[in-house]
Amino acid sequence: MKEIQSNINIIGGGLIGAATAYALSKLGNNLVILEQKAKFDPKRILDKRTTAISEGTKKFLDEINIWKDIRKHAEPIKKIQIADRNQSNKIYFDNQRRKSNLGYIVKNEFILDSIYKKLEKQKRVKIFNNISPKDIFYEGSRIITKQDNFLINTNLLIASDGKKSSVRKIFKTPIISKDYKKKAIVINFYHSKSHQNTAYEFFFKKGPLAILPMQKNKNEFQSSIVWTNSNEFIDSLFSLDNSKIISILNEKIEGSVGEIKKIITKQTFPLNAHLNSKFVERRTIYLGDSAHSFHPIAGQGWNLGMQDVENLYKLVKKYNSLGLELGDEMFCKEFQKDNFFKAYRLYQITDKVDTIFKSDNLIFNNARFSAINLIEKSKKLKNRISDFAMGIN
Ligand SMILES: Cc1cc2nc3c(=O)[nH]c(=O)nc-3n(C[C@H](O)[C@H](O)[C@H](O)COP(=O)(O)OP(=O)(O)OC[C@H]3O[C@@H](n4cnc5c(N)ncnc54)[C@H](O)[C@@H]3O)c2cc1C
Repeated sequence: MKEIQSNINIIGGGLIGAATAYALSKLGNNLVILEQKAKFDPKRILDKRTTAISEGTKKFLDEINIWKDIRKHAEPIKKIQIADRNQSNKIYFDNQRRKSNLGYIVKNEFILDSIYKKLEKQKRVKIFNNISPKDIFYEGSRIITKQDNFLINTNLLIASDGKKSSVRKIFKTPIISKDYKKKAIVINFYHSKSHQNTAYEFFFKKGPLAILPMQKNKNEFQSSIVWTNSNEFIDSLFSLDNSKIISILNEKIEGSVGEIKKIITKQTFPLNAHLNSKFVERRTIYLGDSAHSFHPIAGQGWNLGMQDVENLYKLVKKYNSLGLELGDEMFCKEFQKDNFFKAYRLYQITDKVDTIFKSDNLIFNNARFSAINLIEKSKKLKNRISDFAMGIN
């Protein structure tokens, strides 16, 4: 059977795997990506979501020279407005203190397109599409994946194959998980008034509704709604005529971006979260959603994944400069130490925030009302929360 030798083998060329390949190739490593889907084509991408990119992620994308391509498609978030059930109970965030934006909204297809265009020019990266590993085994200090008719022999295996990671299944790495028994509907739409670069989050009893400011399209104001609700509600909303969906949404968003004029795309996503019990196996590391996934309440899943990528980038740089072998026991231990706790913390925070905002008993309602008031009045607390959202704490 044909055998390909490489430094690193990446399983999954999604938002995390592709960014990882590009970052590590810049450090002089030879890489292989195995992606189960067909060759990336921006015209055929099914994921119409946007991602809220934090300031911390932006800085790293800048360092590896991808941000200037993504920036062309990014709409800055200059203000965030959070409202609890009662619309008078609000918190406003801006970032005059740091004189920077609070984040950026970009369509996922543009992020992938920018990275794949760069990857195409990288001679060190070889991409295999419509391929998935069938087995993984070891030969001395090498790790080998077996595909239908060829082997890939490397020092380090990176699993970036998403929530349902096949690598995790092969290794039987244990996870903790939570099914929220809810869905999110993601609707991109045109509207009548400028969003003024404000992201809105309304916390309703059945789940949050976020409005994320997108770039104008041919002079039309454009935004994206991510609305979480029960499976039954989202399924029936999705099946309605767009005109009916528009009138329901117009009532919910209370004119914050004027009237919704046209729905461009709508998609639904089941909501569940998980955390691997460990982020490493022998000569293998889990990156992005293959390691962790969260309730999208804070829009932080990819951003945290990109923090893992940045930590990996620094670790590989250190190993390369010392002439050490990637993927050895020490390497995996350091990766685990750098990344596990932050993911555990975000898993707990997003889960608790969801519980607090959906609870409707008197104690929780009063506590939430007081907390929102306290945060709105306290500059120090606001600054800490915006630093956390920006990924710079
Ligand atoms: C509604 C919603 C909104 C979100 N909004 C935000 C946000 O605003 N900000 C944010 O930071 N995060 C957000 N997230 C989270 C974010 O989308 C994910 O964290 C991110 O997409 C994870 O990227 P990934 O590359 O790890 O996984 P994926 O995007 O799932 O990519 C995995 C890749 O691996 C491939 N693959 C799978 N199995 C195999 C296999 N066996 N062999 C080869 N290839 C394989 C897949 O085809 C895919 O290309 C949101 C999530 C949801 C559900």
